[in-house]
Amino acid sequence: MTQLEIARKGDVSPQMEKVAQVEGLDAGFIREGVAKGTVVIPANIGHNNLVPCGIGKGLSVKVNANIGTSSDFGNVNTELEKLCAAVEAGADTVMDLSTGGDIPAIRRVIIAVSTRPIGTVPIYQAGIDAIEKHGAIVKMTVDDIFAAIEDNARDGVDFLTLHCGVTRAAIARLKQQGRVTDVVSRGGAFMVGWMLHNDRENPLYEYYDRLLDIAREYDVTLSLGDGMRPGSLADATDRTQIDELLTLGELVQRAQEAGVQVMVEGPGHIPLDQIETNVRIQKSVCKGAPFYVLGPLVTDIAAGYDHITGAIGGAIAAVAGADFLCYVTPSEHLAIPDVDDVREGVIASKIAAHAADIVKGVKGAAERDRQMALARKKLDWDEQARLSLDPERFSRVHRERATTGTACSMCGQYCAMDLVGKYLGVKAGKC
Ligand code: SF4
Repeated sequence: MTQLEIARKGDVSPQMEKVAQVEGLDAGFIREGVAKGTVVIPANIGHNNLVPCGIGKGLSVKVNANIGTSSDFGNVNTELEKLCAAVEAGADTVMDLSTGGDIPAIRRVIIAVSTRPIGTVPIYQAGIDAIEKHGAIVKMTVDDIFAAIEDNARDGVDFLTLHCGVTRAAIARLKQQGRVTDVVSRGGAFMVGWMLHNDRENPLYEYYDRLLDIAREYDVTLSLGDGMRPGSLADATDRTQIDELLTLGELVQRAQEAGVQVMVEGPGHIPLDQIETNVRIQKSVCKGAPFYVLGPLVTDIAAGYDHITGAIGGAIAAVAGADFLCYVTPSEHLAIPDVDDVREGVIASKIAAHAADIVKGVKGAAERDRQMALARKKLDWDEQARLSLDPERFSRVHRERATTGTACSMCGQYCAMDLVGKYLGVKAGKC
C-alpha cells in the first residue's frame, strides 16, 4: 500500500511516525494530512536507507537541491560530491537531473548513498536513449517513455517530475498567447517537440492511468511538472500557465483517487506582487496538494546572483503557502552548478524557508532566532555558530578577521553589545 492508502485506512506508518518525530508534531496530524493529500511523504518502497521527509501543510518548508551531469560536465564522482555538499548544507531532498554519461548508473549510486528522498525527471533518460537508439528525441516511442519511468521507479526514486499537463490544447494556447520566452522547461520542451513532430497527444496525459499504476506499485510520489511555466516576468501568470495548472488540478484528483501521492510544481519567473496570487490559485485548483515552486525568480536581470533572486521569491511564496522550494544557484542561466554553487543555493533557499517558518509558526523556528539573539548579546561565538545556517562560514569569517577583545572586528573596542551592556549594568557575556 502507498502512504496515502495506509493513511486513508486510518493507520500510521513508520514513515509517518518518523516525519512526526522530526517535525515535533503528533503522528495523527501527519496521517490526516497524508490522507487528505495536503501532505506527501516521498518514500519509494525500494529506497532502503531513506530517512522519510514530509512535505506539505502544517510542516516546515522543505528545500530541494538539483544536481546531475550535463552533456558537457560531470560524472558520478562530481555528482556524489554535490550530493554531499547539498545534504551538509541542509537540503531536504535532492533531484538528480543528469543528462550526460551513464544516467541510470549515476542515479543508482546516488539513491544507494542518499538518505534524503531523491527525485528525477525520467523523460531525460527516455529522450537521450532515443537519440542513441533512433537518432532523435522526437523518435522515442510511448513504450520508451514508460520504460524509463518504470526504470526510475524500480531503482528507488522517491518522486518523479512528469510534464503531464503539456497537452495539445496547451500548445495551441501557447501559440495563440505569443510569449516572450515560449517554453523554458527542459522536460516540457522534450514533450512539446515530440508532440508537434508526431502530431500526437502527450503520452503522459493520454496514458495517465498507466503512469498511476507504476507510481502506485512503488509508492512513487508524482511531482506534476509545469512544462508551461513562465521563463520571464513578461510571461508570468498568463493563459498558457493557468491553462496547464487547471489540467494539473484534474490530474491531482485522479492521482489521489488512485491512491497515488502527488504534488504540483510551479513557476518560474514571477514578479513579487503576483507570487501570493499564484500560490492561492494553485492551492485552490489543486485542492491543497503540496506546492513545489522553482524559485520563483522575481527579476530576470540578476544572472550570477539568482540564488538571491530565488530566495526572495521563495520566502514570499512559502509565507503564502508554498510547501517546497526548489533551490536556484548563482550559476542559474549561466552554467551547470559546481559544488560551491550547490552549497550557496541550498543556504539561500534555507534562509527563505526558515524566514517563512518563523511567520507560519512552525515549531521551534522563532525560538532558534531568539536563542541566536541571546547568544549575540552574550558574545557567545560558539553558540552563534551552532545556531547559524552555515556554521562553517560563520566561524571562518569571524576567525579570519578577528579583533583583540571578545567582540568582533566590525566595531572592535566600540562593540555596541559590550558598551550598552556596561551602561545598563549588564555586562556582555554575563546576561
Ligand atoms: S562588535 Fe559590533 S557587530 Fe560585532 S558583536 Fe559587537 S556590536 Fe555586534
